[in-house]
Amino acid sequence: MLLGSARASLTQLTEASMRSSVRVLFVCLLVSLSVLTAPAQPGTTQAAVAQSFTSDDPVIRTIWDEGVERSQIYELGQVMMDLIGPRLTGSPGMARANDWSVAKYAEWGIEAYKEQYGTWRGWERGISHVDLISPRVRSLEGMAAAWSPATEGPVEAEVVILADAGNSVAFESWLPEVSGKFVLISRPETNCRPQDNVEWFARPETLARINEERRQAVAAWRQREENTGVDRQVLPERLEAAGAAGIIRSQWSAGWGVNKIFGTRAERAPVFDLSCEAYGLVFRLAENGQEPVLRVNAEARFLGEVPVFNTIARIPGSAQPEEFVILGGHYDSWDGSSGALDNGTGAVAVMEAMRILKAAVPNPRRTIIGALWNGEEQGLNGSRAFVEDHPEILDRTHVVFNSDHGTGPVTFIPMQGFAAAGGYFGDWLARVPSEYADQVTLEIPGSPESGGTDHASFLCAGVPAFSFHVGAGRSGEVSTSSNRWDTSIYTWHTNRDSFDKIIFEDLRDDAVMTAMLVYLASEDPEIMPRDRRMMTEGAEWPKCRSPARSSAESNR
Ligand SMILES: [Zn+2]
Repeated sequence: MLLGSARASLTQLTEASMRSSVRVLFVCLLVSLSVLTAPAQPGTTQAAVAQSFTSDDPVIRTIWDEGVERSQIYELGQVMMDLIGPRLTGSPGMARANDWSVAKYAEWGIEAYKEQYGTWRGWERGISHVDLISPRVRSLEGMAAAWSPATEGPVEAEVVILADAGNSVAFESWLPEVSGKFVLISRPETNCRPQDNVEWFARPETLARINEERRQAVAAWRQREENTGVDRQVLPERLEAAGAAGIIRSQWSAGWGVNKIFGTRAERAPVFDLSCEAYGLVFRLAENGQEPVLRVNAEARFLGEVPVFNTIARIPGSAQPEEFVILGGHYDSWDGSSGALDNGTGAVAVMEAMRILKAAVPNPRRTIIGALWNGEEQGLNGSRAFVEDHPEILDRTHVVFNSDHGTGPVTFIPMQGFAAAGGYFGDWLARVPSEYADQVTLEIPGSPESGGTDHASFLCAGVPAFSFHVGAGRSGEVSTSSNRWDTSIYTWHTNRDSFDKIIFEDLRDDAVMTAMLVYLASEDPEIMPRDRRMMTEGAEWPKCRSPARSSAESNR
């Protein structure tokens, strides 16, 4: 509005003699506008800076000031996601991330260390390329899977589609045909449009046709996989053993340009993921006898079993140093992109909350632990190991908060079946600013979760542990439209989980609210009773599982 009215008045000043002064006036207007609209922190608006809450707790106000006025989330996120990059368990990127977090904590005067819990398959991603070189030339969108073997320079080979063998005997007799070829093992999509796009634009009969075609194709491909007689998970290894030049798959994530990039246990043949469009192109060429030839180049280094660490930071308690409040989030990620929302944002929130707490609550009543877990994506291994290794801490832990919810303000916290939790959360939320508290719905008494993210490692041991959520409910349980920011389609484990997806206002507020909850918990008179809800018929409290302490112990 301001700029518009400035322009309108300027157009009336058309005399040549006025031009220079007009220019000066215009520049002044722009300068003052930019001052008015300059964000307090890069990537954030000032809207949430309004301090509409009244709190008689000076520490709550100090936490707000520290977290809002002197927020470090942009810098932390930019270094973590852009400079360090993805943090695949066992990769040099993860090792760099561990070292950087310890150094950053030291800068803030917070005691921190790396705690080894095992070893993992060390692997460093290199350049990976896949090009169609015949019947026409085109560079294809795709990348090597995590832990994919390398090629020794570019490999050119024809393509073969996973056979539609009638049974396992027929499959075994077909297997030699893969020798020296790239094998396409995924179902191709006939349509790489997201479902909501089709639903919006297609004629009703077209929508019905597309849906029915996909339903049939899914069933037919499942049958094709079953007919091999080989478990889906180990199929790539069987093809590799039969001499395949490489494995080509496509784990389309049902959105524009997004694929999920997971790992492989193949040991010789490179495993590539192609975009929905690129995979469909190659598949159709092969299906129609048009003899596609691919050139694949995969660089990577295997580093043997390497030590893996959680980063643990502590702010020692003053009155009850032997009691604990634990704030954690996993630090490791998949490496198809930068691991920004899964779970760079959670890791940034943990670090930033610890920084804020150190500044605002240098002497908390209980000891505060900030944990950056490793190996979550392979089965919560870092946090499970911590639980197994530290019974002395768990016995005296008041509460565990887990931050692994992508982006968006925290709107939902299930009480996980702990009978007393609702009272505690109600009390804490009553003392944080309404900007945060009013958005949160508690699920009481909730049910204990057996997995999904790191709080599950604790609650199976009876330790009150809670995970934050965004959207109208748990991610994955809610429809795409109410799953805030389309996380499950667009960023979760995809090739698009990058820095730019972070919503900084929300991450800043996450860190501030989390710091407040941790502070309030650290000052509680009594630790939370561990009484459990009455379970429904047939349901049991989850049992703890041992972590995989090495890649050999991993069943994934
Ligand atoms: Zn995660």
